[in-house]
Amino acid sequence: MTPMVRLAGVNKHFGDLHVLREIDLEIAPGEVVVVLGPSGSGKSTLCRAINRLEPIDGGVVEIDGKELPAEGRDLAALRSDVGMVFQQFNLFAHKTILENVTLAPTKVRKVSKGEAENRAKTLLDRVGIANQASKYPAQLSGGQQQRVAIARALAMDPKVMLFDEPTSALDPEMVGEVVEVMSDLARDGMTMVVVTHEMGFARRAAHRVVFMADGEIVEDSTPDAFFARPSSDRARDFLGKIL
Ligand code: ADP
Ligand code: MG
Repeated sequence: MTPMVRLAGVNKHFGDLHVLREIDLEIAPGEVVVVLGPSGSGKSTLCRAINRLEPIDGGVVEIDGKELPAEGRDLAALRSDVGMVFQQFNLFAHKTILENVTLAPTKVRKVSKGEAENRAKTLLDRVGIANQASKYPAQLSGGQQQRVAIARALAMDPKVMLFDEPTSALDPEMVGEVVEVMSDLARDGMTMVVVTHEMGFARRAAHRVVFMADGEIVEDSTPDAFFARPSSDRARDFLGKIL
C-alpha cells in the first residue's frame, strides 16, 4: 500500500545546527502517529517539513505517493492536501467563524460560496460549535477557537492532518474539548501526525509513538511498548520528567 506520508533521508540545517538528521518515516493511510521528544528536538521542524513550510536540504517528502516539489503551483496543490493546526490558533480576527472556515475553499479550491458554507456548517457542527458561526474569534474561548482552527483545516479536505502542540496554549479546562475532537478524527480514520504533551491522547488514540531527540528518530513503536519499555536512555529520561 502507498504510504500517506513518506519521508526518506530528510535533512534540515539552520546554519550550523543540524535539526533533522536523515529522517525516514512512513505513515499509512488512517494511521495516527504521536511525536514526542524534548524541546528543541526537531518536532515542529518535522511537521513543517511534511508540508514544506520549511524547505529541506536533502531527501524526499511524499504525500500519498506524490513527491512534494520545492516550490510552484504543484506545491500549493499538494500542500493543501495537508491540514495544519498550530499552538496559536491564527484565526482571521476580522472575519466571522463561518468566514474563517469558508475562505480557503472559496479562494484556493474555487468552491462556490453556498457549497463552502454548507460544508463549513457541517464541520462546525462536527467540532461542536455550529451555534457560534456568526461570531468573531475574540468572542470565543481558546478551546472553541482551536476547534474552529481544526474545522478550517478540515474544510480543505486534507489527506493528512498535522497538529503541532494544539493544546499547549490553552487553559487546562479547555484541553479536553480539543483532545476530544482530535480523538473523534482519529476514530473516523484521518491520517494524523500529532505533536503533543497529552499522554492520555498518545496512549488512547495513537497507533504509533515516534520519539525524537537531537533531530533523530530514536524510537518508533506502539504506545504500549513505548510507555512500558522505552528502549533508549533518552526516552527513559524524557518519560521520567513528564510522567
Ligand atoms: P521542537 O519543536 O522539538 O521544540 P524545533 O523543531 O522547533 O523543536 O527546533 C529544533 C531546533 O531548531 C531548535 O534548536 C531550534 O532552536 C532550532 N530552530 C527552529 N527554527 C529555527 C529557525 N527558523 N532558525 C534557526 N533555528 C531554528
Ligand atoms: Mg515545537
